[in-house]
Amino acid sequence: MHLMQIHEPGQTPIPHAQTVAIGIDLGTTHSVVALLREDGSPQAISDEQGRSLIPSVVSYENLGRRVGHEAGEGAVRSIKRLMGKSSSDAVVKDFPNVIAASSPLALQCGPQHLSPEEISADILAHLKHMAEAALGHNVDAAVITVPAYFDDAQRLATKRAAELSGLRVLRLINEPTAAALAYGLDQGAEGTIAVYDLGGGTFDISILKLSGGVFQVLATAGDTLLGGDDIDHALADYALSQWKITLPPHPRAQFQLACRRAKEQLSDATEVMLTHADKHLTITRELLNELAAPLIKRSLACCTRALLDAKIGKEELSAVVLVGGSTRLKLVHSMVAEFFGQTPHSEIDPDRVVAYGAAIQAAALTQGADHLLLDVVPLSLGLEMMGGIVEKIIHRNTPIPTSVKQEFTTYADGQTAIALHIVQGEREKAEDCRSLARCELTGIAPMKAGLARVGVTFSVDADGLLSVEAREALSGSVQQVEIKPSYGLSVEDMARMLEQAMQHAQSDILERLLIESRVEAQRVVMEIQSALKDTPQHLKAGEAAMIEAQIASVNEALQGSERERIDYESGRLQELVGPFAERRMNAAIAEGLSGKHLTEV
Ligand code: ADP
Ligand code: MG
Repeated sequence: MHLMQIHEPGQTPIPHAQTVAIGIDLGTTHSVVALLREDGSPQAISDEQGRSLIPSVVSYENLGRRVGHEAGEGAVRSIKRLMGKSSSDAVVKDFPNVIAASSPLALQCGPQHLSPEEISADILAHLKHMAEAALGHNVDAAVITVPAYFDDAQRLATKRAAELSGLRVLRLINEPTAAALAYGLDQGAEGTIAVYDLGGGTFDISILKLSGGVFQVLATAGDTLLGGDDIDHALADYALSQWKITLPPHPRAQFQLACRRAKEQLSDATEVMLTHADKHLTITRELLNELAAPLIKRSLACCTRALLDAKIGKEELSAVVLVGGSTRLKLVHSMVAEFFGQTPHSEIDPDRVVAYGAAIQAAALTQGADHLLLDVVPLSLGLEMMGGIVEKIIHRNTPIPTSVKQEFTTYADGQTAIALHIVQGEREKAEDCRSLARCELTGIAPMKAGLARVGVTFSVDADGLLSVEAREALSGSVQQVEIKPSYGLSVEDMARMLEQAMQHAQSDILERLLIESRVEAQRVVMEIQSALKDTPQHLKAGEAAMIEAQIASVNEALQGSERERIDYESGRLQELVGPFAERRMNAAIAEGLSGKHLTEV
């Protein structure tokens, strides 16, 4: 068996060796940057005031930008919700400073127009500086977490934001996967894990399956309008109705902040005093629980949906993990425990657990740890076909491990070898994809074109290692190759390949169709010429000349690049040759009945 290591010249097989990398949880309301201590334990990095939970807000004034705690009035909030969106997306309505019909999407930020990526980049740059100040040296690479439901556009936007901030993205990993890593759940046996993430404004539930140290997302569900803010809102409504007052928007927002503080204090205290002007109200934990319970019930309905999607019963879960600041509410803990029938993991700070997992992954990637987390095939894997077009065998985003078998056959008569060219990428032509390996399946017994049965199996194991096996059934010849498709391929390379594929999608498809028509027409001509030569006895008078003339028309069409014309001429040729083919077929069947094998026909 060949073992090929694919990496670019000058690069080590261990990706990103010798760099210091940080882990970043780029949250909707808060962000956290973390790294691994010498002893291997994760640590959240604090600013000079000792704060490590950084509000994901930026304000733009004449003085320039201010991020996090320093951000002033009118700061841009929740920019994560606009990542990878366009001005026609419904979410845009929630952002008053989006510039109407801007394309790409832009926001009015003080005197300037900025894209969501640029605003996100300002938050990331702030986190990068915090890490550099704490470490005393430059940091240039990061693992950044994204919600499991983020689509390609949202992930690409996150990656662009990182680039703009001067950070190289080692990998984007899913937030729930990061949380599971922080709990060391990847070290355990196989299992299915639920990650319950109740943040400030959103709720996410993810069902992950762990096998061979790799996490696969089985299902996600959630509610983008459910979080701690709703509890603050309910508490504010309750207090104001008790006092029989209403507040205009701005004082109301201020009062809701006071409610949030009261709510947070109730995690430790059993009662707190809520104050507004000369009004006072005692809020007990019981009362808070009463207000929060309907909201938590809504989150559990999402959990039921996710379990259904994942086709998993609650009792099959090996662990439940709590993430997000709102899971500090004791009621969340107990209701989740009751729902799942087991005590959820909450030992690690729920605000920092995602960043810890990102830091662990960043260290694994830079220190060349043996297990690299790769839960899906990032780019399609395929084979080059006749005419240089690509047949995708394993499509991108297929969860790993996976194995796909496809049957191929020989193109020409008497072919004894098949060249296998294994490529990676989304483009239609092999030359536009990344070449992974070439090998040959030899020792095929010579037979008529189309009779050989070549089964090609692509398998990607839990480590992302691709092995390709080609086996010709009739002659029993076998060829095997092993490849590491991710070697030497950075997230940037992947993003670039995906972008190019999107840009060229239409012209690629047209070209593919033309090549397919051409290859098919050539095959038909070759097959017919071989039949004319082998069995002239089945030809009627004048038939040969007619067929030859039509072959000439096909060949003429093949000189040009009009697909319709090639298809038309080759179709006519097949029609014309029909009666002759039928006579041949009947004769072959008669011979077959007299005891000959198909391969000898
Ligand atoms: P996100 O992931 O959306 O950025 P976080 O995970 O940071 O959000 O969660 C923020 C939410 O957690 C806020 O609603 C905040 O009030 C809530 N929270 C923080 N600490 C507590 C606490 N001790 N008790 C209840 N809620 C809390
Ligand atoms: Mg979060």
